[in-house]
Parts: sequence; C-alpha cells; structure tokens
Amino acid sequence: MFRKRFAIKSTKLISLFILSTFLLGMISSSPDEGMYPLSEIQKIDLYKAGLKINIDEVYNPKSISLVDALVNLSGCTGSFISENGLIITNHHCAFGSIARASTLENNYLKDGFHAKTLFEEIPATGSTVKIIDSYEDVSSIILEAVKNISDPLERTKTIANKQKELVNAATNDAESIVAEVAEMFAGKTYVLFKYRIIRDVRLVYAPPQSIGNFGGEADNWVWPRHTGDFSLLRAYVAPDGKAATFSKENIPFKPKKYLKINPNGIEEGEFAFILGYPGRTFRHRPADYIKYQQDIQLPYISELYQYAIQTMQELGQDDEGLKLVFASRIKGLANTMKNYQGKLKGLRKLNLVSQKYEEEKQLQDFINANQNLKSQYGNLLDEVHRVFDSTNETAAADLWLRLIFNFSPSLATANFIINYSEEMQKPDAERRTAFQDKNIKQTKSAIELLRTNYNPDYEETMLMKLLEDASKFKKNSRIAAVDYLLEGNGVHPEDVLGTFTDSIVLGSKILQKDFFDNMLQKKPEEISAMQDQLFIFASKLKMQIQVSEKENLKNEGKLNKLYGDLVDVKMLWKNQNFIPDANSTLRLTYGYIKGYNPADAVYYEPFTSIDGVIEKSSNGTEEFAIPDNLRTLYDKKDFGKYVSKRTGKLPVAMLYNMDTTGGNSGSPIMDAYGNLIGVNFDRAYEATINDYAWNESYSRSIGVDIRYVLWVLDKYSNAKNILTEIGL
Ligand code: ASP
Repeated sequence: MFRKRFAIKSTKLISLFILSTFLLGMISSSPDEGMYPLSEIQKIDLYKAGLKINIDEVYNPKSISLVDALVNLSGCTGSFISENGLIITNHHCAFGSIARASTLENNYLKDGFHAKTLFEEIPATGSTVKIIDSYEDVSSIILEAVKNISDPLERTKTIANKQKELVNAATNDAESIVAEVAEMFAGKTYVLFKYRIIRDVRLVYAPPQSIGNFGGEADNWVWPRHTGDFSLLRAYVAPDGKAATFSKENIPFKPKKYLKINPNGIEEGEFAFILGYPGRTFRHRPADYIKYQQDIQLPYISELYQYAIQTMQELGQDDEGLKLVFASRIKGLANTMKNYQGKLKGLRKLNLVSQKYEEEKQLQDFINANQNLKSQYGNLLDEVHRVFDSTNETAAADLWLRLIFNFSPSLATANFIINYSEEMQKPDAERRTAFQDKNIKQTKSAIELLRTNYNPDYEETMLMKLLEDASKFKKNSRIAAVDYLLEGNGVHPEDVLGTFTDSIVLGSKILQKDFFDNMLQKKPEEISAMQDQLFIFASKLKMQIQVSEKENLKNEGKLNKLYGDLVDVKMLWKNQNFIPDANSTLRLTYGYIKGYNPADAVYYEPFTSIDGVIEKSSNGTEEFAIPDNLRTLYDKKDFGKYVSKRTGKLPVAMLYNMDTTGGNSGSPIMDAYGNLIGVNFDRAYEATINDYAWNESYSRSIGVDIRYVLWVLDKYSNAKNILTEIGL
C-alpha cells in the first residue's frame, strides 16, 4: 500500500508521456544517501552492500525482526538489549532525566549512576518509550478529502482534521496504543503509524559526565571525538502488561526482540547499518526556503541562544545549585546553536542557495521545453516565490513571536491564562487540542512547571534582549505589543522596556500559585476589566500571533500543494525516485566505517582511541577533565578484551558515511549480522549541512564504539549485573 508513494501521482500526468519505457528506465536514488522508510527496505540491495542476514530479519511486517527492538525515546532513539526491557541510548538523550534526578548530595550527572539491582533503578522523569506496532498508507483518505478544496486555509485545516480523525480512531488507550499521521511527501503521501507506548522508564546506568559528556560543548559536533555518550534505561509496564506511570508494582517490559551485542566491534571499511527515528531534513525544499533559513532563522536563533547560554553561565558561575538547574537547558540550547553555526558555515561554503536557484532555473527550462508540462507546472516555481516573498515580509516578527514565551515564563503563563479563559467558554470538541478535557491536565502541568526552578534574573535579561530586538525590527515586521509600550514615550526605548520588564513583568504575581489559580476562575471580560498591563501586553501578543498563525496556515496550504507538484516534476526531470525527507518516522540507513577530508590536506581517520581521551585531558579545562579511576586504568593499560584486533588500541568513537540527523541520537549501529556494534550520537561539523543537502564527501556521523561502552561498564564501573544481563 505504502509503496504507492513512489508511483507518479496523477494519471493525467502519466498520459503526458509515453511512459511505460520511461518509468522502467527510472533508477533508484543513490545507494548511499537515504533514510529509507520501512516500506522501502525490501527494495534496496542490502546484500550487495554487505548485509549478511536475510532482509526479512531486519524488517518484516509479518514476523519479528530487528525493527521490533527499536524504541522512539522522546525525540531520540534507543534499542532493547535484553529480554528484560533494558534499553541502550545516548547519555545526552537521558541527560534531562539524569539532571532531574540529581541533587547536590546525589549528583548523578557529575558522578554517574549505577543500579546494581532492579530495586535501585530510579524514575527517568521525562522519558517515554514508543515501539512501532504497525503502519498504513492513508494518502488516499487525506488527498480525497482535499480533492476539491482550492482555498489554502481550508486545505490545511481539512488535512489537519482528517489526520486528527484518523489518529483518534487508531488510538486505543486500553491497549496502550497511540497513533500519529506522518506527512512523508508534503501534499502527496501520508502514513498512519501506531505505536505501543510505555510510560514508566527508569534509569539503570549513566557514566559520569566526564565520560558521557566528555569534551562538552567544545567537542560537540566535532571529530575527532572521545565521548562515551551512552546510558542505560529500562522500560516497565503494569503487571497486566499495559502502559502505566511509575508504580512499585510495575514489572520490566518483555520486548518481542532485543539486539545481540558483538563485543568485537567493527573495523574500518566494514558495512554497517542504523535503524532510528531521524527528526527533520529539508532536502526537497525549494531555494527560497533555504534562503529563509540562511538569512533569518539560523542567524537569529543562534545569536539569541548564545546570549541565553552566556547569561545562564554567568548566573551560575559561583552557584553549584544554579549550575545544576541550568545544566540541561544550556546543553539543549548549545546543541542547537552550534548545529546552526555549522549549517551557516556549510551553506556559505557550498553556496547552496545559489546552487538551488540555479537548479530551479534548469528545472524551469525542462518544464518549458514540453508544452504539456508547461501547462501543468509552468507557474509552479513563480508561485513558490510569491509565497516566500510574502512570508519574508513579516518573517522576523513571526520568528520572534514563536520564541518569546520560551524565554519569559511570566508572559507564557499570562498567555496560558488568557487562552484558558477563552477556550473554557467553548464546548469540549470545539476547543484547541491542548485545552480539551483529555489534555488540559497535562497542558496545565507544563505551565506550572515554569515555576519550578524559576530564575527572575534570567527572565529579566532575556526579556530585555527580546524586547530590544523587537524595537529595532523593520516596518512590516513590527511587534504591535512592543510598539504599544513605546508609543508616545519621549524617553529612550531601553528605559520604557526596562520599566515594563522590571515593574510589570517581574513585579507581577503571575508566578504565584494562589494568583494563578485565582486567574483561572476568571472569564475573559473579567481579565480585560482588570486593566493589568501584563495581560494587556500578552493580549496584544496573542492577537498578533493569531494573525500570524492564520497567515501561516494559509501559506502552508499553498505550499503543501506546490511542494507535492515540485517533487512530482523533479522526479520526472531527474528520472529518479526520491526518498522522503526525515519526519521522525522509523528509517534505515546503511554505509561503511570510513574517514574523510574535512579540509584541504586534512584526513580524518574513522576511529579514535582512549589515547585521545588522555591527550585531551591534559588541556586542563573542566570539559576535558577525566575521572581518576579512568586514568589509573589507562596507566595500567587495563583494557581487557576490548582492544581492536586491528589497531591494538581501545576504540572510543567511530565515523561512518551513513545518513543521519537529530533524532538518530541513540540509534543502534549494527554490523552485517544485525549485531550491535555502537550507538550513534552525533555528526561531524561539516555534516550539519546534510539536513539541506547530503553529500558523501562531507556527510559523516559519529557513534560510540561498543567496545568502549563495554569497557566502561566492565572496568570502570564493575557493572557485572549489567554485563550478565546482556549476556556477556
Ligand atoms: N547530536 C545530535 C543531536 O543531538 C545528533 C545529530 O543531529 O546528528 O541532535
């Protein structure tokens, strides 16, 4: 069913060509690039590439396969490695949970964590596990619903409603089944995925940060890399096997499949593959989209995040408690910031925007050369430009409006209260999803969480920065709420904005529980009648957000149709099938353990070793500090059976030419026999650009070698219980 995706869409189009021979001549996309959806796995010649087991053992919807060992772990990937629900993933994927469980007395982030029995395992708060249950092509249902709709806003809404309908019908709480509809090719193909959900996830093992996050931000997105980026979690279910939140009665989950570990690892040049949940790529987007990213989104966000990180670092400088509070937030922002900086560098180096425009010029020539194509697609690219010309006008304001609540808990809370008061006037079914009875508790707790670990100095600094930025936006991209503050005030804008931030926002009681609870009782007119400046400001923001969201939906509707056509005509032009962009659905990628040339005359080998850990530790900074026990083991050369047979060294990390992106963090790296030989955790700096354009010459991903994982468990932590559980 799902296979239909790759067929050329309309019969009308097919009749444009004498297509039978033409289609037969289609070649599949390059064997190297590609995050293959499950439906495509059987079509790739994995045997030729090096796979030594039957493809059915990798994925077979009719029986148990490696795919059944995979888990989606709140935006990351993990895999089962024991019959008792033990999961291996990245340290950075469990980082938030480890930080939340840490206190100054029991600092698991700093010192690591090791449960020697099930009894000692602790809740990994914030982590949820999803296991794929089934999938189904629902393109025809969705496309049928929008067949006769020409209004773009209506189109977006209808698609969203149909998706919601399908999801609701497929969700089965009693069986712990949740559902999602994923758009594979915009405007063309949609797949309904069902997942089994597990809500009780516990921490089993985390190395100390000085191993699991060795090199910190300095080494993030960088090769050569020496980070032992792994952690172990366990999935628990109620005694009847159903999903349940944490409870002492819960028991370890028995997965249908778990991965076997190959303790001998892998060597340079050998075949490997990865199954995982890559987040988002944008390779099929037009030049205008990449230009928007390059000119607006990437620079603004990386600059803002840098400012936020610096602020948190300064505030936490002499305060260990604050440092712990900020640790996870800093890590998240720094990860995105450096990724965006890498992307910007890559975009400029490759001149990708110009390349894409040039490609589109050639595509236009191809279209124009055929009368039938011209009548169907002649205006396609112009229409895409028109949409982007209009969105670019207000892009700075739209982006700002998307970011402001992330940095101001007070404004986010005021916004919630206003929305709550309005939505609660409506019948349940007409409310926005977040405010429907079944979701309101969760939405409310997310807002209440803003009060935990709240830091007024941080809010003050960030809000001032955002308000000042907004005060400088150009004419078409103004923020009405900020203009309202500045209106008629003769004094310097900084003074007005400063007074607003200090007296109105920080002076408000909005983050006090009693005040908050009381506000939730109020009707919209009662809130307006209060004439509270904070709520006036938040209402103005809300009004502009509504306009911006509506405009956005309209543009999405236009682009949804245009992107679908763009992929169709590009397939004809390139005489080639495409793989859909990553969209957080399960994919397979394969390749080889392989180095590369990041710059002229520089060659990067594909393995690092423990020698590099020791070399880097001499740098003396906190990020490169190593635990004493690790140095002792190194000095004694106590590497056990974990050294590489080829190099004689203890490998730490490895490099390979597989196609991965964010979300692939924690993905199992498997050898030709489907055995676990590493855990994917990053990409090289040059490869951050592969979200827009993949190229074998610079696309390299990074994983931690299983031999290092086992060495740390065995020699460093003496985690015999875990080694026994995983059969070693
Ligand atoms: N380390 C990356 C992340 O956290 C993984 C990747 O994007 O390759 O998103």
